[in-house]
Amino acid sequence: MTGPTLKQLLALVNRAERGVLLAGEAVILRDALTALDAARRSAGGLQAALHTERARVARVRELHQPAPCGNARCKEGQWCFGCDPDRATCADAPWPCPTITALDGRQEPAGAPGSAPDALSPTEAATHATRPAGDPR
Ligand SMILES: [Zn+2]
Ligand SMILES: [Zn+2]
Repeated sequence: MTGPTLKQLLALVNRAERGVLLAGEAVILRDALTALDAARRSAGGLQAALHTERARVARVRELHQPAPCGNARCKEGQWCFGCDPDRATCADAPWPCPTITALDGRQEPAGAPGSAPDALSPTEAATHATRPAGDPR
């Protein structure tokens, strides 16, 4: 549903100023103001939801923190304390962990296999691989 544009509404206001606004045009203005108020309320709700979700993500990030690898021979390795607090090497819970990777989005190096935008995810590739060649789906 698309209502009148701002330009059209301002033209109606100009007509009201000149005292030539028609009754039908007043209805258009009233409907537009009602829609504007609804949109403002909706935006307020979205703002509140966004605030809640940001706080949720912050709590998850607080749990998933990198720590230096417990393997003395591992110089630069890091592990995720949140994923596996009982063990302490990058082999047990490599950093960044799947949770942090999911929050940050997939960040594969350019040119790496699967980095092309149209590449299939491993799950999709498996699905396609098991589908018979002549399958009409
Ligand atoms: Zn983690
Ligand atoms: Zn390590």
